[in-house]
Amino acid sequence: MKQIHRATLYHIRLPLVQAFRTSVDAYSMRDVLLLRLEVEDVEVWSECVALPTPTYWYETVLTAWYVLTDHLLPLTVQEPFETREELMARLARVRGHPMAKAAIEMALWAYEAVEARVSLAQLVGATRTHVPAGVVIGMVREPKLLLQRVEKAIEDGYRRIKLKIAPGHDVEPVSMVRKMFPDVALLVDANQAYTPENLYALQLLDEYDLLALEEPLSSGTPLRVYADVQRQLHTPIMLDESIATLADAEYAIEVGACRALNLKPGRLGGIANLLDIYRLACERGIALMHGGMLESGVGRAYNVALAALEGFTIPGDLAANSRYFREDIVDPPFTLDANGMIQVPSEIGLGVMVVEERIQRALFRTAMFTPKDGRVSS
Ligand code: MG
Repeated sequence: MKQIHRATLYHIRLPLVQAFRTSVDAYSMRDVLLLRLEVEDVEVWSECVALPTPTYWYETVLTAWYVLTDHLLPLTVQEPFETREELMARLARVRGHPMAKAAIEMALWAYEAVEARVSLAQLVGATRTHVPAGVVIGMVREPKLLLQRVEKAIEDGYRRIKLKIAPGHDVEPVSMVRKMFPDVALLVDANQAYTPENLYALQLLDEYDLLALEEPLSSGTPLRVYADVQRQLHTPIMLDESIATLADAEYAIEVGACRALNLKPGRLGGIANLLDIYRLACERGIALMHGGMLESGVGRAYNVALAALEGFTIPGDLAANSRYFREDIVDPPFTLDANGMIQVPSEIGLGVMVVEERIQRALFRTAMFTPKDGRVSS
C-alpha cells in the first residue's frame, strides 16, 4: 500500500507573451492549476488543463479548483492505495470533471515512472527521442500581421502551423498563408464555429492541402451529421472536444464522423483513457495528433512524452515554452532544435524540474491536504 502524505494545489497566473484568440475566446493571462503529490518519499507534479472560461469545454479553472479541493483531493489523500486504477475508481463517485480528475491521474503515472525508474515516455511505451514541434496561431484579423506571425513561426523552426478559423475568417487567411508558404504543413481548427448550413466555406478549404479540419461543427452536432459532412470533404475532419470517452471514439470511427483525432490526456480524464483511444485509433487506421491546452512546462512535459508514441503521425500542438510564456516554471525549458524538433525527456519520471520560486512569484492561491487533517490550508 502507498500513502499520499500531502497534496498541494497551486493556482498560479502566468502572463502570455501574446494574447491568444480562438473562435470563442481571447486570453492574455493563463491561469494554471498545478498539483504536487508527495507519495511515500517521492514528489510528483501535474497540471490541470482547464481554461478560465467554459467555452472550449464545460470545466473551468474555478470549477476544477472547487471539484479538486472540495471533493477529489480529500478523497485522494484519505486512505492508502494499492494501484492507480484503484485510486481512480475511488474518485469515480465524483461524476464528470475529467480535467480535474486527470490532474491526479497523470501525477500517479509520473509517480509510477519514478517507482519503475524509467521516463514517463518509456512507461507509456513511447519510443521516439524527438517529436516535431507545431505551433497554433490564434485568430489575427489583420492579414499582414497574420502573415508576419506565420513567417516568424517558420523562421523559429516550426514545421507545422495550425490556424484558428471562424465563419468570415477562413478561406481568406488560409489561402493567403498557403500562397505565401506552399510547402508548410498546415491545418485549421474551428472550435465548433460552423453549422452544416455554412458548410460551403469549409468545402472551399479543400483546395488548400490541409492536414486536417479540426472540430468544424457546432457543439452537440450528432456524429452522424459529422459523417455526412466528412463524406463531402476531401480534407480529413479531426475531432477534439467532441470526443470525451472511448465509446465516443468508437462510435465516431464506426459511422465515419472523422478521419483523425486530436488527443489530450488532460481533457480525456488522464493517460489511461488517452491510451485506450490511441490503441483503438491505431487499429482502425485513424490519424492521430497530440493536442495542447496552453499548458505550462509541467503539462507540456506530459504532452511531449505521450506524443513520442509512434501512432501520433500528425505533428502535434507542441511548442517551445517561450512561445507562450515569458517565464515558465520548469527547468530545463522545452526548446526547438535546428530541425524543428523537441527532445523527449529521458530522465526518470517527468524529466523537468519545477522551480518553486517561480511558482511563488506567480501564485494566486494554494490549498493543502494531508491524510490526518484533510484540508490544512487554503
Ligand atoms: Mg482543438
